Amino acid sequence: MPVDWVVLGLDNGGTTNSGTALDDSGRFLLDQMAEVPSDVREGPDKALQRLADSVRQVLGLAGVPLESVRAVGLDTPGPASADGVISSKGATNFGQPAWRGFDIRSALERRLGLPVIYNNDGNAAALYAHYARFGEEAAARRGSVSVIVGTGLGGGIVEAGQVVKGAAGMAGELGHVPIPLDGLLDEGQPTPVCNCGQFGDAESVASLTGIQNNLLPYWLTRYKGHELGSMPAGKAAKLVRRYGEDGDAMALAIFRQQAIALGRLLTIAANFLDPDVYFLGGGVVEAASHFRDWFIAEVRANTVLREEQARAAEISLVPDLDMAGARGSAVAAREWVIGQGALPQPSARLSRRYPSAGGTTTTMTKRTG
Ligand SMILES: [Zn+2]
Repeated sequence: MPVDWVVLGLDNGGTTNSGTALDDSGRFLLDQMAEVPSDVREGPDKALQRLADSVRQVLGLAGVPLESVRAVGLDTPGPASADGVISSKGATNFGQPAWRGFDIRSALERRLGLPVIYNNDGNAAALYAHYARFGEEAAARRGSVSVIVGTGLGGGIVEAGQVVKGAAGMAGELGHVPIPLDGLLDEGQPTPVCNCGQFGDAESVASLTGIQNNLLPYWLTRYKGHELGSMPAGKAAKLVRRYGEDGDAMALAIFRQQAIALGRLLTIAANFLDPDVYFLGGGVVEAASHFRDWFIAEVRANTVLREEQARAAEISLVPDLDMAGARGSAVAAREWVIGQGALPQPSARLSRRYPSAGGTTTTMTKRTG
């Protein structure tokens, strides 16, 4: 079937750029990710060159010419603004000083000569999970919350098919929502602290960093002589999951606390947003099935839904997590292209009229990036 136009999706990670192509009918043209090194640690110049390499690689693998590309979706880890300006304080993946306050979206747009639509990686993955679950038509009528457990706790909120970005681009930072700790912490266990400075937010418990900094140091005092106590903290933290799969009591205690934290976070989401689906993703749900099923059952048991909500909603897994960022970025770019086509006047492209409560009309800038 001839392709009218395509969009590309690029996921810019700490070591790798993953890329894909999506055609005008909503079909992904690659079954696997196209991958090149991201070289983000070498600074913006090298990294942009690598993103351009990604574009060439995807076009080659998909067999489509550059002229057919209407837009490129890009995601990176945060913190960054809604329009893709890296935090002025830098970020884990963007340690080189030249990255501070760098506008990666505009820079890539100039380099490629194509519109670039930006999302942070959690939001891009949330968008893909949403579209994969509902399909294009139903996606626009549904809401979902995605929670992805990794080094930190990421994710995003999708409402009526659109990522909720917020005024400053900081909506959906689910990891930094404080959660009740009563009945979660063991007696005498210190209050977990997050890299963001808060005590007892969701990420301080439900993340690899939370295991390394908070949970493992405490539980090793309760399981004196445990093998993990003799290893460097970073290595030990990564191994806790394998111990959990083998039924190790200390590892299960750690993951039970993570499951309670996630359940409490989803309970807050239920009261704020009442979504159709709660997606879980990340390391723990990619574990051996018996362990994953136990963990999800624990999350469910700690998620308090009203009877009506329990009937209407489901807890599900983020599909193809390794591809979710690039694919979600492509979905965002395609939605943007379709949105452009639907607006009749070029002058109206960047604005939409919303009636205000007083009956007058206010013009709001539509965030597309
Ligand atoms: Zn935090």
